[in-house]
Amino acid sequence: MRPVVLCFSGLDPSGGAGLQADIEAIGQSGAHAAIACTAVTIQSSQQVFGFEACAAPLVKAQATAVLDDLPINAIKSGMLGTTDNIAMLTQLFAEKIINNDTPFVLDPVLVANSGGSLGDEKTLVGAFRQLLPYATLITPNTHELRALSGEQDLHFGAQNLCAQGAHAVLVKTSHDFESGDIEQYLYIEGKMVYKSILPRLEGEFHGSGCSLASFIAGRLAMGDALIDAVKAADSWITRTLRAADAPHPDDAQAQLIPNRFI
Ligand code: PLP
Repeated sequence: MRPVVLCFSGLDPSGGAGLQADIEAIGQSGAHAAIACTAVTIQSSQQVFGFEACAAPLVKAQATAVLDDLPINAIKSGMLGTTDNIAMLTQLFAEKIINNDTPFVLDPVLVANSGGSLGDEKTLVGAFRQLLPYATLITPNTHELRALSGEQDLHFGAQNLCAQGAHAVLVKTSHDFESGDIEQYLYIEGKMVYKSILPRLEGEFHGSGCSLASFIAGRLAMGDALIDAVKAADSWITRTLRAADAPHPDDAQAQLIPNRFI
């Protein structure tokens, strides 16, 4: 069978982010997505109205049903929603219910791109720090990077997350810089090993972070080295954003949905 990525992620009914983004991105990477649903969110493509997290035993039962069934070639986590869910995933690694050699892409979701809360940030940050040592790659946005590392500078922040145990960190300059291209850096074990320049595209996107992290997880499941997986994801994500759907074409501020079927 195709290599399998087991994702821990939430449902976004708009279909832009969350588990639908994961399924589509992983499918496009060549792998198969299996999902343990962590939360049901109430949101449009533009705004988060609320969410209800799944209880940790329910998420664990979903994951173990799949772990007992399918050969798992990579793990990806997105919105976990509660410290209980983060602790449960940490325990799956600590107890080796998930093989610790399995590549693990950790997208430490705290808030949606729209700014809506997807969990209690203060407590989630502490729980995520326990999960960091199991991460092959962590893909924080600038807000998450600063929250997890306590550093304002992106480079110091990436080095800090490696020092906290993450194998690698992928960061990009985003909303901080008004103009110019977007720079992206890959740090492995505290050293910058790859830098890329991505074109700054017009608009805000809903689900771009989920898509990027999942595509990388898919490529790792397919056997790519980390740098190759990141390079492949860069060119793929740029294409999905260029082809993004505009749910509100008359509103220049409205978020766009990446077209992952390009
Ligand atoms: N996971 C879920 C369920 C979400 O709803 C969102 C954002 O709305 C995210 C993750 C993070 O999305 P993004 O890729 O835009 O950072």
